[in-house]
Amino acid sequence: MMPLHSHPSGRHFLQIPGPTNVPDRVLRAIDNVTIDHRGPEFGELGKAVLAGMKKIFKTEADVIIYPASGTGAWEAALVNTLSPGDQVLMAETGHFATLWKKMAERLGLRVEFQEGDWRHGADPDHIGKRLAADSGHAIKAVCVVHNETATGVVSDVAAVRKAIDAAGHPALLMVDTISSLGSVDYRHDEWGVDVTVAGSQKGLMLPPGLSFNAVSAKALKASETAALRRSYWDWKEMLAINPRGYFPYTPATNLLYGLHEALEMLMAEGLDNVYARHKRHGEATRRAVRAWGLEILCAKPEEYSPALTAVVMPEGHSADAFRKTVLTHFNMSLGQGLSKLSDKVFRIGHLGDFNDLTLCGTLSGVEMGLEKAGVPHQRGGVQAALDYLAQTSRPQNE
Ligand SMILES: *Cc1c(COP(=O)(O)O)cnc(C)c1O
Repeated sequence: MMPLHSHPSGRHFLQIPGPTNVPDRVLRAIDNVTIDHRGPEFGELGKAVLAGMKKIFKTEADVIIYPASGTGAWEAALVNTLSPGDQVLMAETGHFATLWKKMAERLGLRVEFQEGDWRHGADPDHIGKRLAADSGHAIKAVCVVHNETATGVVSDVAAVRKAIDAAGHPALLMVDTISSLGSVDYRHDEWGVDVTVAGSQKGLMLPPGLSFNAVSAKALKASETAALRRSYWDWKEMLAINPRGYFPYTPATNLLYGLHEALEMLMAEGLDNVYARHKRHGEATRRAVRAWGLEILCAKPEEYSPALTAVVMPEGHSADAFRKTVLTHFNMSLGQGLSKLSDKVFRIGHLGDFNDLTLCGTLSGVEMGLEKAGVPHQRGGVQAALDYLAQTSRPQNE
């Protein structure tokens, strides 16, 4: 805990790419009596959030909700569909793809990791070629991170699907949308994804503690013969009782109240508007970064993340020292560089409960921090963002 005398006034700016700022409406919804999760009221809540999540995933298929962090839903996707020794193809987009790969190995899967430079998304051509060469269909699944939170790079999931189909390969497609769902356009059914993995604390604007699997009929079929051990994560017991709105073990009741509220907010804004808002804030952020004369980590403009921007620190300067300056002087948390990007980049989260003026405050904190920390840069990043935001703003309350 912070000593009392240092209580900072105003709101902390939590501009890491998750957990994100939780809106007051969601906090108030969570602040409610915990009810009997087997009683009559609960079923309605359960049914409502399960149905609402289908709309966010854009799927008619089954959705599973776990009281767990995103990592739990990663594990659920693998253990429900695969067997010990199965071959899996994964794309090295960054830190999170690497963690998922390590988990798969620990679970006894044989992972082929398509190398990446942490500045690009998964390469559909590379995936397609590898699958075309696998004429015996030894590869059972292709796993891709949609929005690589460590780098601010989005992979083209529809193109990966096309590559799998063009190779005529039956592998399952599994996608991690933990930091993109509710921020970046995503279509589980249309893109033919078999298991989509998501979490509560990023685009969905909730505290950490819930995670999700959206499950295609093909994945469900695979689960009937998948031999990896599972108990807590087993889809079967969930799916048996979910249609009535209940769960096989105690769900995170209060987080589900919050989820219900967050889904209403996303639907009221309209998903297309939500995605457009994130894109626009991503563009404004990148204009600021360029004006500062700093480098954006993502190498390809088509792959820029609408949810976060990773910024490369000038040679010889510490990203962590800069972030510390921003935190102590301006009460704002920026995302750190992860594993091999440690101290080399900082990440600006612009996802979740966020608007033009939140972005202005965020970028102002970054620009003042650059000055204070003695990081070489040009002034005018905030101005570049303001110009763009003003040119492209629309009435909010019509
Ligand atoms: C945050 C994140 C995770 C990890 O989720 P936890 O809730 O921390 O377990 C995995 N993948 C991506 C892409 C993430 O952004």
